[in-house]
Amino acid sequence: MMAEQKILVEVKNLRQYFEVPGKDFFRKAKVKAVDDVSFSIPKGSTLGLVGESGCGKTTTGRTLIRLYEPTGGRIVYDGETIFDSGDVPLTDADGKPVLDAHGKPVCGKKVKANMLPYRRKMQIVFQDPYASLDPRMTIGEIVGEAIDIHKLAATPAERREKIIRMLERVGLNSEHANRYPHEFSGGQRQRVGIARALAVDPEFIVCDEPISALDVSIQAQVINMLEDLQNEFGLTYLFIAHDLSVVKHISKRIGVMYLGKLVEMGTSSEIAFHCCHPYTKSLISAIPVADPVLSRSMKRIVLEGDIPSPVNPPSGCRFRTRCPYADKLCAEKEPEWKEVGNGHFCACHHLEKVT
Ligand code: SF4
Repeated sequence: MMAEQKILVEVKNLRQYFEVPGKDFFRKAKVKAVDDVSFSIPKGSTLGLVGESGCGKTTTGRTLIRLYEPTGGRIVYDGETIFDSGDVPLTDADGKPVLDAHGKPVCGKKVKANMLPYRRKMQIVFQDPYASLDPRMTIGEIVGEAIDIHKLAATPAERREKIIRMLERVGLNSEHANRYPHEFSGGQRQRVGIARALAVDPEFIVCDEPISALDVSIQAQVINMLEDLQNEFGLTYLFIAHDLSVVKHISKRIGVMYLGKLVEMGTSSEIAFHCCHPYTKSLISAIPVADPVLSRSMKRIVLEGDIPSPVNPPSGCRFRTRCPYADKLCAEKEPEWKEVGNGHFCACHHLEKVT
């Protein structure tokens, strides 16, 4: 029997609401960018997060490492609670709610941990390799800055050796250390972004659409490099992308988000071959198939309408305005998270109609 993998990152009922100007000048509206999102990532594995632009996947990644202060929920990193809003029920080892003497669910205590000790362990690679590097700094200074902040080199020689080792590890070389970001291609800049994250010996990296700004020919190289680095350093990734075909390749498990909510989660093969949420089905049908015969036999599911505003999301199931199976119940009640198989979860009232 395989030993159970240790959970490195756990998120429970994570919420991130932003205030925006409302219709009325004096009243603010709330954008529920991330609403009650829960998942866990075992050490050394990759969770892929997919969905259209604006579905909340980037906000989830940034909130998880507390670049944004969460509105609510609980974040546990390597067994330590780094954030708890105090209103999320505790669960036991079997996932059942912990009850008090009166049978009421017990919530965790409020926690806002100092993030300094975690900043080194939890890193992020940003989507835009053009905007995420300071144009006034050399590549050596960019990679070295993180080493300085966390005091990871005792001498200038050790610092330089570490910078060069990181650049070489991502396919660059020592000559590149004295150059500026504008002298590099998009793929090379993204490699610098990865070297910067790696320089502080992290354990967990949020890869926030790391390849979507790159040429298709470069995308596979960066993905393969991220996989090699994961195997070499035992890294854990949250891999965010809007392209399910990319996420499927690199992730062990995949979560699908729509308008701030997780709608389905399962292993990559379950999501690829047995997905059950109508939204995931439409994403899968959009993946190009190389075989022309097979491609002709497959039906593309095109969703009607645009993604609704997160300021005023639809009642009940948020996907109902675009779902071909929607009925009265979908408008009245939010679907619950149901297990449909081996660790495969889906939030839909009418699974029997869809699958
Ligand atoms: Fe569609 Fe209803 Fe299922 Fe939502 S709950 S995905 S609207 S069938």
